[in-house]
Amino acid sequence: MINKVRHVLGISGGKDSAALAIYLKAKYPSLDIEYYTCDTGKELKETYQLIDNLENYLGKKITKLRAVENSHEKPFDHYFQLHGGYLPSPLARWCTKKLKLDPFEKFVGNDPVVSYVGIRGDEERDGYISKKSNIQSIFPFRKNIWSEDVINKFLNNANSKEVLHYYKEIVEDELKQKKIIDVVKEPLSLKFNQKRKLNTLLDLGISEFNKVVFAFLKTTDYPLAKEEGFPILDNEEILVQDDIFRILEESGVGIPAYYMPTEFAVNGKKGQYARSRSGCFFCFFQQKIEWVWLYEQHPDLYKEAICYEEGGYKWMQDETLEELIQPSRITKIKEDFLQKSNTIGKPYLNQSASPYLLDILDNGEEGCASCFL
Ligand code: SF4
Repeated sequence: MINKVRHVLGISGGKDSAALAIYLKAKYPSLDIEYYTCDTGKELKETYQLIDNLENYLGKKITKLRAVENSHEKPFDHYFQLHGGYLPSPLARWCTKKLKLDPFEKFVGNDPVVSYVGIRGDEERDGYISKKSNIQSIFPFRKNIWSEDVINKFLNNANSKEVLHYYKEIVEDELKQKKIIDVVKEPLSLKFNQKRKLNTLLDLGISEFNKVVFAFLKTTDYPLAKEEGFPILDNEEILVQDDIFRILEESGVGIPAYYMPTEFAVNGKKGQYARSRSGCFFCFFQQKIEWVWLYEQHPDLYKEAICYEEGGYKWMQDETLEELIQPSRITKIKEDFLQKSNTIGKPYLNQSASPYLLDILDNGEEGCASCFL
């Protein structure tokens, strides 16, 4: 018997996944979405507050997935011990696998699953969530809602006849159909690469493109092939950062408190800092100024983060947390951050460039889709 397709949305505690949950509930109430969050036991209290607010708004439970059950230890600490006190890092990210991906894959099992991911229309990255074939990711905020593997298949030269067939069935306008046929017939090449072909087809009609992909998927084993219809096919909205903040504010769920800028002073000058992402309070992806923020705004958590370095491993390659909080070092980090703020944008002090402190803190740097969206 074919299992029913499950629709799931992971709440990371960040703004984008929260806004996606609100957006989909408001716009597509017919979608029966299961919400979940992977609790490492090391999130900020503001994150847990956001999850409570969201549960109230959605009127549904957000299932808390914990990588270890029936243990007196928090999930992160359990795996930290198992790894012999070896701290995770961008190159050895055991925490994401053990605390986020594995519990998620256990939660969905072998059921066919559509997983909604909050990567925005103004982001370039692709979200790696899972490579299991029963899990299909959908990106409702982007112009292209499909995952890269689906697009690779769909635009493969070998499938162009099939794609043409569906386009002819779906697009009625003759002139538009002719333009689309020319594009589909042009094989991929160095000059006309996949990204260009994709964007050209999307520019000729987003909902038509989506309907053709959906028809094409019926010939595959993707979870959506088992669905009669999919309401998101008609969506032509592309959502960017401003939209995310607006959705959070208008819904009453609110912007996670750790994004809110707090003032600091250094050598007679004033600046503002905040945290740019959700996830564990000691996450190694955070910037120096965010460590300073943690030290000054949550000294107890900073102290806890220091304890993890007692085994000889460090959160950052170049310095320990004890070294980072020496007064001269804090001053230097704040000065550097002020200078960076003045170069990239002047958050809240002068709206001439980026209005978001987040753009300066985040600045397109590497992160983890499972933890920060
Ligand atoms: S937030 Fe950072 S430390 Fe926590 S699981 Fe994710 S990558 Fe690891």
